[in-house]
Amino acid sequence: MPGRALVVGAGVAGLVVAWRLAEHSWRVQVCEQQAQAGGLLAGRRVDGVACDLGAHRLHAAALQIPVLAELARDLPMIVRPRKGRIVLRGQHLAYPPTPWGLARGLGLVEGTRFAVGFAAAPRWRTTHGDDDVGFAAFVRARVGEAAYAGFYAPYARKVWGLDPADLSQTCAKQRVSAAAPWRLLRRPVERPGFLLPSTGFGALVAALVTRCERSGVTLDFGQTVQPQADVDRVVYTGHLSDLVPDLDLGHRGLHLLWLAVPGASLADVDTWYCPEAQFSFGRVTQVGHFGAQAASPPLLCVEIPQGAGPPDQPWSDRIGELAGQLTAAGIVPARARVELRDRAWLPRVYPLHRRGWRQRWREALRRATADGRTLPIGRQGLWLHCNLDHAMHTADAAADWIATERDVRQWPAHAEQFLGLQVRD
Ligand SMILES: Cc1cc2nc3c(=O)[nH]c(=O)nc-3n(C[C@H](O)[C@H](O)[C@H](O)COP(=O)(O)OP(=O)(O)OC[C@H]3O[C@@H](n4cnc5c(N)ncnc54)[C@H](O)[C@@H]3O)c2cc1C
Repeated sequence: MPGRALVVGAGVAGLVVAWRLAEHSWRVQVCEQQAQAGGLLAGRRVDGVACDLGAHRLHAAALQIPVLAELARDLPMIVRPRKGRIVLRGQHLAYPPTPWGLARGLGLVEGTRFAVGFAAAPRWRTTHGDDDVGFAAFVRARVGEAAYAGFYAPYARKVWGLDPADLSQTCAKQRVSAAAPWRLLRRPVERPGFLLPSTGFGALVAALVTRCERSGVTLDFGQTVQPQADVDRVVYTGHLSDLVPDLDLGHRGLHLLWLAVPGASLADVDTWYCPEAQFSFGRVTQVGHFGAQAASPPLLCVEIPQGAGPPDQPWSDRIGELAGQLTAAGIVPARARVELRDRAWLPRVYPLHRRGWRQRWREALRRATADGRTLPIGRQGLWLHCNLDHAMHTADAAADWIATERDVRQWPAHAEQFLGLQVRD
């Protein structure tokens, strides 16, 4: 029988579950601590241009999620070709990396090392149990030593701040398991381009808010809640670590800086991936490529993982240093003027999955659901590194679970399926 539900958080996961439950005749209240909906997808305007918190885009496969496909039918979408580059040893190589592209870009000697490494890597069958050989061993076995040492190891150190041997193999499996050469060579066919709502992801959030309101959902902003209200079900999209603080469910934060480069003409690239330690940033995106609106002057969003550089000195005081790094990376021309336009700090954005984290994950979900009422969902609620369509998928599944009156204590077992989600970059 339909009852009352409290949804904690108005990111895409919270909005989807609220809308779907209301359609099943539940009385739903959403409480969001921020002043606006969207969570990680809450947009902002920088220099008059619509920007995400770190550039977002959809892969065509995302539309296999029915709830997203339904929303996308009413949203004008644009398709953009992938224009990513890896900055490696002074070269700009196509991303995702292919053995062929690495060989061409790095020249005969280095390229041969990478290609031979790919070919000779043992590529054991991936295990799906709890055996966790760690990121380093897993990636070496998939792509060989040269590609591991040249790209994946420094990138992992930069993004997660851990020795790749201590990092879980799942961080690699979610990203690298498709990196067997035959899969890489198929990618251009599999991935024709990215999809973007032409007026930005804010339009997707607005569409969800409208659907919630039309279905009778109450939306309250500026309210931090812990799941203790007097309701039949609580769907929780906040951080799992706030529900079970003693289980070491760590995270890494991310600094975002939006930098304008007046008077400069930048390469026709949407994203530069910069694994090498000499650069504080891991990824730099060109905002104009992520929407219908061109940015003039060119606008970059620079992503700097927590812990890169001196802790007490804010990045906003170090724009000159960043400009030097952007020039050294070949992203902005020498002597270009680089101006800070905006910044944001996302404190707990990357789940820090050390080897053996799944046991803690299971225990955390068991405790969070032990009241028979609370279902954690979404990227933060499930402490998973996932795409926005994945977050929506977990919400859809939770709405079905509640509407069909399934036992909340069984939700952790059902949620195991989400451990296999493949992050798309
Ligand atoms: C830099 C970056 C780039 C990304 N790029 C892509 C991309 O290109 N494509 C893609 O598909 N995905 C991308 N993602 C992932 C995507 O943004 C997330 O998976 C998705 O937005 C998660 O939605 P969510 O609703 O689960 O969580 P969130 O968006 O984090 O929403 C959770 C909400 O809960 C609120 N909240 C938390 N605790 C409480 C509380 N106690 N009380 C009230 N409210 C609370 C928060 O304020 C927040 O609004 C990217 C993520 C990042 C960080």
